[in-house]
Order: sequence, then C-alpha cells, then structure tokens
Amino acid sequence: MAKNIIVIGGGPAGLEASARLDALGYNVFLVEKETRLGGHLARWDRLFPEGVPAAPVLEKLVSGTGNTKVMLESEVLSLSRLGKSFRISLTSGVSVIADAVLMTTGFDLFDASKKEEYGYGIYDHVVTNADIEGYFRTGKDPRIGSPERIGLVHCVGSRDEKAGCRNCSKVCCATAVKQACELKAKFPSATVYCFYMDLRMFGRGYEDLYLKAQKEYGIRFIRGRVSEVSEKIDKTLQVKAEDTLSSTPLKVSLDLLVLMAGMRPSEAGAKVGKMIRLGTGDDGYFNTSDGFTGMQATSVPGLFVAGASTGPKTLPDTLSEARAASALIHEYLRES
Ligand SMILES: Cc1cc2nc3c(=O)[nH]c(=O)nc-3n(C[C@H](O)[C@H](O)[C@H](O)COP(=O)(O)OP(=O)(O)OC[C@H]3O[C@@H](n4cnc5c(N)ncnc54)[C@H](O)[C@@H]3O)c2cc1C
Ligand code: SF4
Repeated sequence: MAKNIIVIGGGPAGLEASARLDALGYNVFLVEKETRLGGHLARWDRLFPEGVPAAPVLEKLVSGTGNTKVMLESEVLSLSRLGKSFRISLTSGVSVIADAVLMTTGFDLFDASKKEEYGYGIYDHVVTNADIEGYFRTGKDPRIGSPERIGLVHCVGSRDEKAGCRNCSKVCCATAVKQACELKAKFPSATVYCFYMDLRMFGRGYEDLYLKAQKEYGIRFIRGRVSEVSEKIDKTLQVKAEDTLSSTPLKVSLDLLVLMAGMRPSEAGAKVGKMIRLGTGDDGYFNTSDGFTGMQATSVPGLFVAGASTGPKTLPDTLSEARAASALIHEYLRES
C-alpha cells in the first residue's frame, strides 16, 4: 500500500515537493492555511532577475501536483509521534496517520510599521516591496499616484538588531533593483533613488540587472541608511540619510517611498514546529540536521524541511530544496 506523506505549507516549496512525491507514487496530503495555494509567489507580479511573470510559474507548480490531496484553509491542531509514524489533526476535522512529514511553512514578511521612523501606515505615500508587487499585478493603489521622485530603502527589518533580525534577507536587494527599474519604466520622468547599505547581487544575472539599472534606467544608488522620514503638509516626504561613501548628510524630497521589508520566520510554522519539538536557531528559522549534507533532514526521524522555513531563500533555491527533500523522503521511506 502507498505510504502517506503530509506536506505542511502550500507555497512554492510545498507545491514542488508534493509534485515530486506524487510522481513517486506516494499519497500526498498538502495542508495550506490560506484560501489559495502559492504562498508568497501568489503575491508577486514579476520575478528577478529577468522579470518573468510570476503567474505562469505558479500555474506550472500547481498543475504539477497531480493526485495530491490539497486541504485549503486547514491548520494543524496537533502533530505527534505514533511509533515510527506521525498523527496529525487538522482544524477541518480531518486526521491523518503519516509515514513522513515535510515542513514547508515558509516565511512572514517583516511588518514595516514596526520601523516607525519610516512612517509606513502613517504617511500617505510610504509603501512596501510587497505593495509594489500588488500595484503592478492589479494596477491599483491610491498611495502610488504619479510620483516624480521615488526612493527605495533597502534592509528594512533585516540586518537590524533593533528590529530583532541580524541576518540579511537575501532577496530584497535584487527585488529593489528590479522594482526601481519597473517604477522608472512606469513613470519615465521620475528620478529614482535606491538607499542601500551593501548591494548583495549574488545570483546569476543579478549583476547584469544592477548594471542595466544604472545604465539604461539611470537609477541613482546612494550608499547610506535612511535615518528619518517626515511628511510635509502637501504630502511630500522629507527623507534624511547619510551618503556614507562621501560622508555627506543628505535631505531628499520624495513623492513615494518604497520599503524593502525583509523575511522573518513564519509564526504559523513555528507553532507547528513546537508541537513536534523541531528546534530553531537564534534567528527563529528551523534547524536542519547539519548545514552541508543534511539540509533537508531534522533531528526528528521522518520529519523533513525545505524552502524559506529554514532561512531566506530565492525561488530557485527553494525549488531545489523541495526536490532534494523529496529524494531524501523517498530514500527514508524505502529504508524504513
Ligand atoms: C518582496 C519579495 C519578492 C520576492 N521576489 C522574488 C523573485 O523575484 N525571485 C525569486 O527567486 N524569489 C523571490 N522572492 C523569494 C520567494 O518569495 C521565496 O523564495 C518563496 O516564496 C519561498 O517559498 P516557500 O514555499 O518556502 O515559502 P512561502 O512562499 O512563504 O510559502 C509558505 C506557505 O506555507 C503556508 N503555511 C505557513 N504555515 C502554515 C501552517 N502552520 N499550516 C498550513 N500552511 C502554512 C503559508 O500560508 C504559505 O502558503 C521574493 C521574496 C520577497 C520577500
Ligand atoms: S538582500 Fe540587500 S536589502 Fe535585503 S537584507 Fe540583504 S543587504 Fe539588505
């Protein structure tokens, strides 16, 4: 009889792993707390570095899941060991005995309103990277208007002890450069600034995107952290920063400020992790059995992890991990 596998989290990692495990002949149950599949990918319009549309990527992932039993609007009520298996009860009333569990609970976006000095939720023309994706997907957001001066602030809620997150979120430099170009294309007469601490354009094609942003789009990159934002009576924003390359204080007037909110460990994922004593690091992300050869395994036999639940990741890295986790689960179930 085919063995049961529960995948918790229906984002890119959960979808890709479900597709692979289904193709290997397992009974796959995919548990998603929201009303739709796709995780954060469902919120993005275009993907860096080339700017390909996100929707067909998501469609392909969803259509690959085959016979996977998808359970939407379902949360885990309890998860415990039953001999070598796992017993899982869901809020929908369904209970499953599973031979293996894969945690693909992903990440939460940093709540930008916690950085009060940037004025998100207070000033009319301050938005986040996620809001910009929503704007490009739907064409609607009254906060955007017709800006002539646009600023993008990197590292919002990342690399910031005060915000409780020391680590780099990895994806937001590339997102900022991509969105700076998109905003310039949408508002050609606008001047667009990126305020960055370091530019982490590490992936294939990312450096080309950065060069294109400077040469083709004329994006102005300013090395320095924004210290304060205030709103004038006419709703324009006054931004104070320091250009740390020239050690000059700067004051810039803007019509739109975009905050590059970083990635944080998923709170809903942490709740399930605790049920099964899955350890986390100081950063709150799930621990793996080791950082080189056991990236998808955990200290709990039969419990596996993939995607952004173990730290900030790009989509290609997330999907590679999901495939690696599927192969590892297959090996584990063949041996058990
Ligand atoms: C602003 C921004 C833009 C980005 N743009 C790009 C890009 O252009 N290119 C790129 O390569 N990468 C990009 N990324 C990264 C990309 O979004 C991630 O790599 C990807 O979403 C990670 O997938 P995941 O499945 O691990 O997590 P998620 O996408 O977070 O999905 C996790 C899923 O699990 C569900 N879940 C969580 N807890 C539970 C629970 N307890 N029970 C049931 N379900 C649960 C969630 O609802 C969600 O559906 C971007 C990230 C950000 C922040
Ligand atoms: S990827 Fe860039 S913007 Fe994001 S936290 Fe790292 S350095 Fe900051």
